[in-house]
Amino acid sequence: MSVTAADQRIFDVVIVGAGLAGSIAATMLSRAGHAVAVVDPHAVYPAEFRCEKLDSEQMAVLQKTGLANAVRAASTHDERAWVSRLGHLIEKRLSDQHGIDYGRLVNTLRAEIPSNVVFKRDKATDVANGPDLQRVTLASGEVVTARLVILASGLGNALRQSMGMDRIDLATGFSVTIGFDVEPEPGSRFPFRALTHYSERARHRVSYITLFPIGQRMRANLFVYREVGDPWLRAFRDDPEATLNAAMPRLARLTGPMRIAGPVKVRPIDLYATRGYRQPGVVLIGDAFATACPAAGTGARKALVDVERLCNGYVSDWLATPGMDVEKIGRFYDDEAKCRSDARSFALALRMRAMALDTSALWSARRLAAVALGLSRWAMHTVRDAMQRLAPEARAKQANIGAAPDVAVPKAASDLG
Ligand SMILES: Cc1cc2nc3c(=O)[nH]c(=O)nc-3n(C[C@H](O)[C@H](O)[C@H](O)COP(=O)(O)OP(=O)(O)OC[C@H]3O[C@@H](n4cnc5c(N)ncnc54)[C@H](O)[C@@H]3O)c2cc1C
Repeated sequence: MSVTAADQRIFDVVIVGAGLAGSIAATMLSRAGHAVAVVDPHAVYPAEFRCEKLDSEQMAVLQKTGLANAVRAASTHDERAWVSRLGHLIEKRLSDQHGIDYGRLVNTLRAEIPSNVVFKRDKATDVANGPDLQRVTLASGEVVTARLVILASGLGNALRQSMGMDRIDLATGFSVTIGFDVEPEPGSRFPFRALTHYSERARHRVSYITLFPIGQRMRANLFVYREVGDPWLRAFRDDPEATLNAAMPRLARLTGPMRIAGPVKVRPIDLYATRGYRQPGVVLIGDAFATACPAAGTGARKALVDVERLCNGYVSDWLATPGMDVEKIGRFYDDEAKCRSDARSFALALRMRAMALDTSALWSARRLAAVALGLSRWAMHTVRDAMQRLAPEARAKQANIGAAPDVAVPKAASDLG
């Protein structure tokens, strides 16, 4: 990326926010031959507690953006994972999760942005949008003009408000995500590469804890359903080990003695959507459009689907003809894969919460069904592993999974479905 002070040109696209979604959009659109400017106050994305691993579904979407290999190289593959439910180990399986600190993830993506993309290190304070040209005013007073604005500015509400869009709270304080490093007792090792340990009892108000490697560290993300002022959260901050053990007494049977190392990050999560987003000249993606519950693990996927569909499916067509009216922009919001991803994200958030908290017969049966499913999968994997050990060609095929070339999907074949 190049950095300029003042710029009179009319860009094809100005992207407001170079986080996960915005950085990917910048690379994809520049590679597609468009003149792109990016506005973000941070030259280097700061360390921030957000999504810290990408699963195979998320990597599959990233593959379609042409950026999966860069992320794969910067992250830690967990390879195998244990799963426990209701306090019992029910599954040991192959796993395809990639652990990476959020700042490193975004900065890895930013490093891929071609040098002809113009980076404005500034904050956008106002967007004046219309059916032809858009004007983004920066805090410095500079105005950036483009045919299309992609708003990828994450959680902040001020810019949306400046365009007459409202944030609709679907559920404030829906869940709380807690992040920390863990270490086994000196001289010992964790017996797993990664572990997901689901709630043991509804009264603990825990969804699950997931332990996964990032480099040499073992990272933990704990998802709980607690109000912001809940004394339990203070207790966790004051004495995280004792509070964790009380909420998940059987966890230590799997991990062995462990301690919480380094800072504990606690982030309450609101679920919101945006009203009034169908406007000419501007399109919202990622958290700027709507948030997801981290316990459902769909926030990053939603942002990735947004940016993949927008940049592989629509922007080049929009720019090929004059104007940028609401009808053009609406095609993206009506995209089938995007709508499915948004709906799934919200439904999964509610489902995960009910799985953790609902004590009705229906949800108790669903918890037991999840145990049965895990056990049967474990049995299947055990048989498959044994067969692979006996068949060398099958083992070679397995080793090649994940080494597919990075290819941006051609437009006609870019539908996720
Ligand atoms: C604690 C936590 C844990 C999470 N865990 C998971 C998980 O396990 N799995 C999962 O799938 N999802 C998870 N998520 C959700 C996921 O991290 C987000 O949905 C995703 O990162 C959103 O990406 P984005 O590009 O929309 O926003 P961001 O990456 O936040 O990017 C926004 C960018 O906009 C810039 N910006 C803001 N305002 C302006 C302005 N006025 N002008 C210019 N630039 C601006 C910011 O500097 C930033 O660079 C988690 C979220 C949180 C908070």
